Amino acid sequence: MRVVENPYYPGMTIIEGVDRIDFHCKRCGGCCRYRGDITLFPQDIPRIAKHLGLKSGDDFLQNYAEKVFIKGKPTFYKYVIKAKSDNLKTCILYDEEKKACKIHEAKPPACFFFPFVTNDYRKIDSECVIEDAPCIQESELGKGKKLIEYVKANPLYEEEFDIRMRFERLFVELKVKQFSHMNEALYSAISKRLFEGYSITDGKKEVEERLNDAEEWAIFI
Ligand code: SF4
Ligand code: SF4
Repeated sequence: MRVVENPYYPGMTIIEGVDRIDFHCKRCGGCCRYRGDITLFPQDIPRIAKHLGLKSGDDFLQNYAEKVFIKGKPTFYKYVIKAKSDNLKTCILYDEEKKACKIHEAKPPACFFFPFVTNDYRKIDSECVIEDAPCIQESELGKGKKLIEYVKANPLYEEEFDIRMRFERLFVELKVKQFSHMNEALYSAISKRLFEGYSITDGKKEVEERLNDAEEWAIFI
């Protein structure tokens, strides 16, 4: 077991080399504070909108999410879940009275996977990376569930794995491409197609069609 710096969150640490964890959430709400950074994958948008009983994906985006501009370009963006304006920057979807997430069954992967840190759980069967959050200190490492067992308990995330990976690959590719006035319209079309205009569906088929279009358009950048 190794405790190392988290490459994505300077000042925080992660635990590597653990095969399983006996973790039970105490519902303290700690991981829903200091937020405003939970990334929404395209398929999260129609799914969460449906879960909240909203009319459309855009209804969800307007009320619960905000745009994050990539490379500082207003035409290339993704969405994250908003934080409330309280001092603790509590996630807008945290219910203080019930001490619970309002979209628990439909929450984005960053929240579902906690305390595991991964975007490629299918490759990891013997060793996991665990976030070194204060609540982990009461958990037994080396006992309990493996990451893969944890994921299989909720097939939603496993079913969607391929399209999440396609989206990540496309975004990484778009980030490294040269941004110019010539291709601004394509970046804008791709961002819109991936995130906006969703009807209320289970998301998967519609997201696949949108990803096909976005991947095709990206070839011309
Ligand atoms: S910080 Fe840990 S114990 Fe608290 S709500 Fe999050 S997962 Fe549960
Ligand atoms: S979506 Fe739910 S679990 Fe995730 S940070 Fe917000 S309230 Fe917490």
